[in-house]
Amino acid sequence: MPALLLKIQLMCLGVEFSTTLELTKINIVDNHSPFQRGAGGIKTMTKKSKVLLIYTGGTIGMMEDAKSGHLIPFDFKQLKEQIPELNKFNVDLSSISFENPLDSSNMQPEIWVKIAKLIEKKYSKVDGFVILHGSDTMSFTASALSFMLENLNKPVILTGSQLPIGTIRTDGKENLITAIEIAAAKEKGKSIISEVCIYFESQLYRGNRTHKFNSEHFKAFHSANYPILAEAGVTIKYKFNALKKASTQKLKIHTSLNPNIAILKLFPGITQNIVEAILNAKGIKAVILETFGSGNASTQKWFINAIKTTIDKGIVILNVTQCNAGAVEQGKYATSASLAKMGVIGGADITTEAAVAKLMFVLGSTNNKKEIEKLLKSDLRGEMTDN
Ligand code: ASP
Repeated sequence: MPALLLKIQLMCLGVEFSTTLELTKINIVDNHSPFQRGAGGIKTMTKKSKVLLIYTGGTIGMMEDAKSGHLIPFDFKQLKEQIPELNKFNVDLSSISFENPLDSSNMQPEIWVKIAKLIEKKYSKVDGFVILHGSDTMSFTASALSFMLENLNKPVILTGSQLPIGTIRTDGKENLITAIEIAAAKEKGKSIISEVCIYFESQLYRGNRTHKFNSEHFKAFHSANYPILAEAGVTIKYKFNALKKASTQKLKIHTSLNPNIAILKLFPGITQNIVEAILNAKGIKAVILETFGSGNASTQKWFINAIKTTIDKGIVILNVTQCNAGAVEQGKYATSASLAKMGVIGGADITTEAAVAKLMFVLGSTNNKKEIEKLLKSDLRGEMTDN
């Protein structure tokens, strides 16, 4: 089947570059009977599911070139030959690859928009999506997609690996195979998962609750404030109580994102100059204030004044804790009471990654201050526990 080339223009840091998406249908349908692994013996798939694999880049898609020993991008056209285990699945798998795979450190909101549009385009044609992505910014992408894709009733599973798929000890094979299995999994004809998730090292997480905490271990992610959604062992055990309910409404995608935000991480000794430089940055619309403990900050006069002046100018300040687990509770200590009084918005137990994505999404959706505040205080996609 001839490859269909789609040119997409991406603006990155003012430099224009182009990425070519190559659409190549890989039909790996075989005559094996439908697989029946699943939660406690549930038949996760009785009818052939269709899964679309979107390869954006990252370590997972690399393999060692036999001659040079260098890591080169894996050819997804030969997926079936490279990962013969996939033959055991009765999944109708197709794939789309970025021709120039990205290290996820180069991920940009413009690319999130392209991915969201691609998902919208293919939504009615497949039962689930697996996005192969570098682990470094995977939590940001998963968070962004969770806000951009409203009313999901199909799974969007991001995965990647710490070692390239073409190396002997790779964690990529298991991650990829199980992510496909989860994306294909159905119960009573309906997808088990209907949200944006990350699957990594035996665990399925709600994407907008994750944080990459380890660059060395295969277990690279955690979700400190929300339970895992499934655990893959001999069977895949879904935690049905923790799963998002499938929407009965039509998928709606949001593609307007406003990246004019900053993160101000506090530390003892941070100077007035630095704080003011960030708060006065040109074009800034919102600041994530990464505070201590349950949302506490210095009560020095210059600091309080800087925050107050910023809020008076109409800039949104969202209080997110530096701690991995737990929540912001403004007013618990005197050191956070003044923040609440000035109009700093408490971010509850949201992660910094989800806060970045949520602010871009909310600021892209409305200019109305009251509406912005209401949205930031509400749990929109399971990203935070309601205050
Ligand atoms: N630097 C890589 C990336 O995030 C690491 C990985 O793939 O895990 O793209």
